[in-house]
Amino acid sequence: MSVSSLYVHIPFCASKCYYCDFNSYVSTSDVMERYLNGLDLELERVAADYDHDLLKTVFFGGGTPTMFDSRQTERMMEMLHRHFRMADGVEISVEANPGTVDLEKLRVLKDGGATRLSFGVQSFENDLLQKLGRLHDRDAVYQSWELARLAGFDSINLDLMFGLPGQSLAALQHTLQALIDLGPEHVSAYSLKVEEGTPFYTWHNRGQLILPPEEDEIQMYQMVIDRLRAAGYEMYEISNWAKRGHRSRHNQVYWRNEPYLAVGSGAHGYVDGVRYINQKNVPDYIETTLQGTRPVVEQEQIEVRMQQEDTMILGLRLIEGVSFQRFRERHGVDMLDVFGEIVARFEALGLLAVDDVGVRLTAQGIFLANEVYAAFLE
Ligand code: SF4
Repeated sequence: MSVSSLYVHIPFCASKCYYCDFNSYVSTSDVMERYLNGLDLELERVAADYDHDLLKTVFFGGGTPTMFDSRQTERMMEMLHRHFRMADGVEISVEANPGTVDLEKLRVLKDGGATRLSFGVQSFENDLLQKLGRLHDRDAVYQSWELARLAGFDSINLDLMFGLPGQSLAALQHTLQALIDLGPEHVSAYSLKVEEGTPFYTWHNRGQLILPPEEDEIQMYQMVIDRLRAAGYEMYEISNWAKRGHRSRHNQVYWRNEPYLAVGSGAHGYVDGVRYINQKNVPDYIETTLQGTRPVVEQEQIEVRMQQEDTMILGLRLIEGVSFQRFRERHGVDMLDVFGEIVARFEALGLLAVDDVGVRLTAQGIFLANEVYAAFLE
């Protein structure tokens, strides 16, 4: 399967949120400059090393790609176009945090071909934002939103989180209403997970971080589903909603288990059935790339069975599920010949629905998705 998607990791943030275990660091402008030098060389190598089509989707993720100043942002976009050619109608998404954009930077992104912005809003409640260690407040969300519209962005995602410490259903309702009033074209909403190695993990273990009980978290998820549906958003993935024509095409590449290239520290790529992982440590990444070497630290040929499992687990995140035809085209075998017993078991439990087209999670299955996915792992 030919590759036409690229992920670019920008590992810089203004500060570290208390719950964050992403590959992101607080850094200086000088390090960011050197990172761009390394990225330039890595992009050149990756473009030359892999047979690829014109790019249909590009995703600048982080970290916070908008930590770069306007000149660095211009460089980032320029090097993308210098090393890769874009297909007509390419989707180029850029993650941003409220408070890290100004009009000049946003115009540079737009002029550089960015078609989509994704803001890490998380909540419209200032007290919750503080508890998360976020640097921005609600006003910064509104300011960044207005600037993005002024710069001409007409496809904007807002990220939300629920199940936050001290968050009530009423607070979530207020956040959802504020979000709906703004009217972004896309919404991602995830429940908070306490990850090892984060301040939240330490505080949770010490009993200093009190999270809403599981029943509340389930009710919160249901509230997100109901409110966004009522506001005209289509739930197309278990954590993602879009207005017509605004689904994230790049993320659909992941969920359909299709190939993608990746550059940047700690980035993972997946091409020709091989998954590769880049050096995570930023100074090491810079040193390696500046020597003209690919910063790959791990490569793994994904076995056929594992590829089939990935197709099911990732594909079932999509509300449309996994079609029999797509599975057959991808793996050359019938899905039910490989996973028939598991599908039948979860269909009987009412967690999977099966029809002539394929297999998908039921409304009940969406709430127990992790249990369903686990069953597909050998
Ligand atoms: S802004 Fe995002 S990537 Fe950066 S520290 Fe916070 S959660 Fe992590």
